[in-house]
Amino acid sequence: MTARQILIVEDEPTIANILMDYLAKAGYQPRHIENGAVALDSIRDQEPALVLLDLMLPGMDGLEVCREVRKFSNVPIIMVTARVEEADRLIGLDSGADDYICKPFSPREVMARVGAVLRRIQPGEVQASNSLIEVDEESQRISMAGKRLDLTPTEYRLLRLLVTRPGRIYSRAQILDLAYPDSEDVSDRIVDSHIKNIRKKLNAILPNAEVLHSVYGIGYRFEI
Ligand code: CA
Repeated sequence: MTARQILIVEDEPTIANILMDYLAKAGYQPRHIENGAVALDSIRDQEPALVLLDLMLPGMDGLEVCREVRKFSNVPIIMVTARVEEADRLIGLDSGADDYICKPFSPREVMARVGAVLRRIQPGEVQASNSLIEVDEESQRISMAGKRLDLTPTEYRLLRLLVTRPGRIYSRAQILDLAYPDSEDVSDRIVDSHIKNIRKKLNAILPNAEVLHSVYGIGYRFEI
């Protein structure tokens, strides 16, 4: 991952240029791609720190690009849309987007959103949690309140996925895709039993700490 690299996927050159300028001035390394399919390849090859993704693109639209990206990457995605009424739906489960911005936007607003999403998604340590939960990617360990959780590799991947995006809801299918990359034909229900086991381990350290929340009919989210 390139720490400050931001990929702009936008078919309107004027808008892309404005974004490029502002992002560069703010110290980021922006790149611009006009086409969804090309953007997918680029994200796969050199995972950027964040993607600003226009919804209305010729060919493969932003929503489709977002879904495809989520099959292999957890890169933060901010959707950019002119359809205000669509905005809420966009950050719903279907797209996998982290946030959205409505056109017309002020560049200042875009910078604020980019900064906020990047801060929220710092790997390693979950800022919002005040270090209650820490993820050590190198040793593949997760600690809660300074105590190490004794997790299986699968439980590690699952919990890591949820804690690095506090507040975001993941469906069982998304969890399966992202946390069980090697398993085919596993049932959604396996996610539930892993969550149950992880909760037990979390509760052994902090009884009554409800941090893995069930979202009825959908899936799970981590929030302290
Ligand atoms: Ca467009």
